[in-house]
Amino acid sequence: MPQRFALMIDPVDASDTRGDYSGTFTEVDVASPVLSVGEFSTQRGDGVFESIGVIDGHANEVEAHLQRLAHSARLCDLPAPNLAQWRQAVSAAAGLIPEGEAVVKLILSRGVEHGPAPTAWVTASPAADFSAVRRDGVRVVTLDRGYDLGAGERAPWLLLGAKTLSYAVNMAALREARRRGADDAVFVTRDGYVLEAPTASLILRRGDEFVTPAPSGGILHGTTQLSVYEHLESCGFRTGYATVTASDLANADAAWLVSSIRLAVAVTAVDGEPLPSDPAFTADLNAYLLSPR
Ligand code: PLP
Repeated sequence: MPQRFALMIDPVDASDTRGDYSGTFTEVDVASPVLSVGEFSTQRGDGVFESIGVIDGHANEVEAHLQRLAHSARLCDLPAPNLAQWRQAVSAAAGLIPEGEAVVKLILSRGVEHGPAPTAWVTASPAADFSAVRRDGVRVVTLDRGYDLGAGERAPWLLLGAKTLSYAVNMAALREARRRGADDAVFVTRDGYVLEAPTASLILRRGDEFVTPAPSGGILHGTTQLSVYEHLESCGFRTGYATVTASDLANADAAWLVSSIRLAVAVTAVDGEPLPSDPAFTADLNAYLLSPR
């Protein structure tokens, strides 16, 4: 049985500077009930989370994930997380799985109606084996997201840029993709712009330039996309953010879905039409993403 771990966190104020937060963590038995039945995270998906990739006990891109956790909390009017406390919790959780690929998940929930609130915990568990999909890529279908590119700015209460626990729509999109004979999906706005996949960012290649949909369009700013861009720039490639149309995707020289745990997977077909891919380039990207970052 793969080992799983959970640490409950007693969240301290963002202004707390005590330095050592180990006294605020309690390791819990993942097989035992821990959360109250009144938890808003389970009743309403009302909370935010992060999934951090861990390789041989090293958690990757921790600062980018913590910054996004704080950003999501701000958008959801949750108390600001104390990042030093979360940093220490991530390091403690990552150290529990010192070998192989693992996932450390950070959850900050609205909590329980009459307290305690907020509720916070981290889990650590071994990651699934993604070696085949990293090698073979994914066929995607484009799926209507049901709103236009301006929705995120026009209607901030939709929380489009926050990584909330409400992933039922994202999971439904993946099931729909499979019903349509594909492996994954890319969301498209009503006005024809591609956004992101249900659990990954999209990067396109056009010649020596790489482009990704701008996060102002109401999507998550991917930590893996940021990291891939740093790598590509150090290799001399140009990178940028843009509004990307569905036909830009269909006509790209290559495209990838990138995310913290599965890492980079090539898009090999869009809506049944093949897309060129470069397996050696993808393997290089994954070699970089598997290195300590
Ligand atoms: N977009 C969505 C909707 C996601 O769920 C994720 C990751 O889970 C991403 C993008 C990629 O983010 P990251 O690279 O930080 O894992």
